[in-house]
Amino acid sequence: MEKILSCAHVHTTFCDGKTPAEEMARKAYEMGFVSLGFTSHAAQTFDPGYCIEPSREKDYIKEIRNIQKEYEGRMAVYLGIERDLYSCSNPSDFEYFIASVHYFEKPDKTYIGIDAEASDLQKYVYEYCGGDGLEMAKRYFSLFTEYVTESRPAIIGHFDLVRKNNSILKLYDENSKVYRNMALESLRAMSETNALLEVNTGGIARGYMTSPYPADFLLKEWKAWGKEVIVNSDCHNVSLLDAGFKQAEEILLSLGYDHVVRLSSDPQKGMWERVALK
Ligand SMILES: [Zn+2]
Ligand SMILES: [Zn+2]
Repeated sequence: MEKILSCAHVHTTFCDGKTPAEEMARKAYEMGFVSLGFTSHAAQTFDPGYCIEPSREKDYIKEIRNIQKEYEGRMAVYLGIERDLYSCSNPSDFEYFIASVHYFEKPDKTYIGIDAEASDLQKYVYEYCGGDGLEMAKRYFSLFTEYVTESRPAIIGHFDLVRKNNSILKLYDENSKVYRNMALESLRAMSETNALLEVNTGGIARGYMTSPYPADFLLKEWKAWGKEVIVNSDCHNVSLLDAGFKQAEEILLSLGYDHVVRLSSDPQKGMWERVALK
């Protein structure tokens, strides 16, 4: 089996990551990575501890461009961002972006984190979704579908992130037909954009999930539609750069995938390339 040796979803101290960008690149290179994509949380006007401060966006771009030059010919480095639906940054300032939905906007224009404190999400469900967890999930997928189909990202980030707090709160049954159909319908609409579906191992790496996002039934359909996946660790700490990759590869193989896509090892030949899984 060929190793993936790449990650296109990496956070640094420019946002909520624990490792400076330079150290992240050095470690990736030592591990034999052929490519690495930096994707700090794009600037937002709220929740400042989590994202690139709008005034530091230029510094982020400059630093990643410098690292890109430093590793030229040895490891392909890319300037990306993970752009939340409510970010204020311009995606065209970056080589690619991952589209993610991490918040619900409340009527008073404040935001509640979908994957943050479980008790906050629970409160949101009671106050704004009539106590109905499925209604919350429906809202999440509907926001995400609209965001992806309109913004056309390179990568769909952690597609079923609502699973994170559902594993604690048990707001709805993830095996129910109604939940599965709503998730599938959303994924089907996104598949029309040709974005890569991210197999995100970050939850496994950080110990709060036992399987990657998205769930197997979604990956199975994605495969049946002839679409492509990319495996990412959503790395916030250098020691977890390829955490969960092996498990993701095994899941993908069991679902019939014979390759994944990664950031290209040679930017001259294009942005993406395939890696065989067997
Ligand atoms: Zn994210
Ligand atoms: Zn992330």
